Amino acid sequence: TKQHVFIRSLIILFLSCITVKLNLCFSSIPYSLKTLNLEGHFNFDEVHHAARDFGNRYQFLPSAVLHPKSVSDIATTIKHIWEMGPHSELTVAARGHGHSLQGQAQSHRGVVINMESLQDPKMQVYAGNFPYVDVSGGELWINILHESLKYGLAPKSWTDYLHLTVGGTLSNAGISGQAFRHGPQISNVHQLEVITGKGEIINCSEKQNSELFHSVLGGLGQFGVITRARISLEPAPEMVKWIRVLYDDFATFARDQEHLTSAENAFDYIEGFVIVNRTGLLNNWRSSFNPQDPIQASQFKTDGKTLFCLELAKYFNPDKNEKVNQEVENSLSLLSYIPSTLFLSEVSYLQFLDRVHVSEVKLRSKGLWEVPHPWLNLLIPRSKIHNFAEKVFGNILKDTSNGPILIYPVNRSKWDNRTSAVIPEEDIFYLVAFLSSAVPSSTGTEGLEHILNQNKRILEYCETAYLGVKQYLPHYTTQEQWRTHFGPRWEVFAQRKSTYDPLAILAPGQRIFQKAI
Ligand code: FAD
Repeated sequence: TKQHVFIRSLIILFLSCITVKLNLCFSSIPYSLKTLNLEGHFNFDEVHHAARDFGNRYQFLPSAVLHPKSVSDIATTIKHIWEMGPHSELTVAARGHGHSLQGQAQSHRGVVINMESLQDPKMQVYAGNFPYVDVSGGELWINILHESLKYGLAPKSWTDYLHLTVGGTLSNAGISGQAFRHGPQISNVHQLEVITGKGEIINCSEKQNSELFHSVLGGLGQFGVITRARISLEPAPEMVKWIRVLYDDFATFARDQEHLTSAENAFDYIEGFVIVNRTGLLNNWRSSFNPQDPIQASQFKTDGKTLFCLELAKYFNPDKNEKVNQEVENSLSLLSYIPSTLFLSEVSYLQFLDRVHVSEVKLRSKGLWEVPHPWLNLLIPRSKIHNFAEKVFGNILKDTSNGPILIYPVNRSKWDNRTSAVIPEEDIFYLVAFLSSAVPSSTGTEGLEHILNQNKRILEYCETAYLGVKQYLPHYTTQEQWRTHFGPRWEVFAQRKSTYDPLAILAPGQRIFQKAI
């Protein structure tokens, strides 16, 4: 009948509308991006690189990679996705140097922004009474060092490895051996330019849009893409006295470390690491030691014993060499390390700061750089560090052949608690970093499973012993776990998200908020 034909036509029309809508949501997404007027460009085919990171364990393919030439390219893209509303599944991940460990800079079927393409604004150093450098959010720290050194200046606070971007480390914290004095990198930023999840370009600082400024610092990429940063500088030294000494007792090691972090001007950099029954491939042992080579301190054969290596640096200019030698000698004379284990050399400031790159080159040549990295980074309150050391080193962890374990104290007073970074409650806490590399296809103690199991046991111990530990570079899979991580600060974090990225478009790889579709 006519009525049936009419109803059938209506059903067909309805079904084709749904198909068109689905097509719009999925297949035509890249096409809608193609219509945007940009200075840079999208790549829809060569996207595999954006699905990889240093961790080498998670791979989520994006639909497109944006190579921005200008800040407005990024704003236009995010605004476009924001205007598509909650029905589009598209998300956006800024990718710095892709040195995340668990897919944090990836976006499954979304858009990855290759931040290193953003060379606008050109890096500019301001050498005055309070020097600073203006950089793009995609700039590598190594490039900032090279540029600022031309003016005799350098940033104050670093990471151990400099081939990371400004946006990437400021989204976490940026911690290294200078943090005890200057705080992490997020404590050394004057101003940011940020593009929110609505595509707005906003300048922010302590004084201007301060809520956004503090949200973004340590904000795990949740509130905006950092397109520009103004970073505080100081006069750069020419040279560094680089020192390593060994201890066979944790209590003495920790006491000396803490003493040095509170002593005025004793050293400019303080770190340390653990050596447990070390014999493996990543840490070759050599029988002859050269006291002029601090690297050799980490190559001691420990015969099953656990050793603790204190690593120090004193900056100096050659015209003050004698005076600085005396100061170093005085500071060292107050320490209780094993007397025959003093390793000391003098290197340029650049060589010192870029030291991990030397290891990178060596590991790459052996095919040991692009392997899975099941790293575990913990922030442990000072009052619990002895329990932790006793339980973990030589006990849960029988050797350190899979890579270095860093351990050093930092002062909470150098952190700004208005930022999004999550740290323990106590005045002093330790960074303990298990920087493991897994040998692919190994099922033994060098294999991924073994290392992951060890990490799990360490985390379980922290939890059952109520150590008050926080993860640095955290990774969780449920929102419940994230709530526990943030503790009482969760409400503020979630509120900030609903203000700056209400559709949860940004940094989906952190798996904190899900875009509602
Ligand atoms: P990516 O991995 O690309 O991104 C990290 C996160 O930040 C992602 O969620 C991403 O979406 C987001 N993001 C990236 N760029 C931006 C931006 N412009 N705006 C907003 N969000 C952005 N950390 C330390 O603190 N101290 C160390 O000493 C240290 N040493 C390291 C050594 C090595 C060898 C490696 C691999 C890592 C080290 N890290 C260290 C960790 C490092 O700081 C983080 O992994 C950092 O995120 C890496 O920077 P990236 O540029 O590769 O960021």
